[in-house]
Amino acid sequence: MPPHIHYAHSRPDRLKSEWEPLFTPFGEGDHQCQRHTCKKCAEMAPNHGHLNKVAYWTAQFASNFSRINEFKGFIHLIFKAYTSISSF
Ligand SMILES: [Zn+2]
Repeated sequence: MPPHIHYAHSRPDRLKSEWEPLFTPFGEGDHQCQRHTCKKCAEMAPNHGHLNKVAYWTAQFASNFSRINEFKGFIHLIFKAYTSISSF
């Protein structure tokens, strides 16, 4: 039985196979999310995990505020929590 794919949202102009997935597993492969160095997150690739992109861009945003290290720590904690999700 193939794994069940969860979607963040549909794309009305696209086939279901092109909807945005909720999460993309982390790893080094071309179809995986490569965390803070991920080009697909940086480019907002439509067929790449929605939560991955939220975490990536939140961390990028937070890294611009050097005075609020607590906030950065919180964001990195969230990013780590996403990395622990593997059942999608
Ligand atoms: Zn990514």
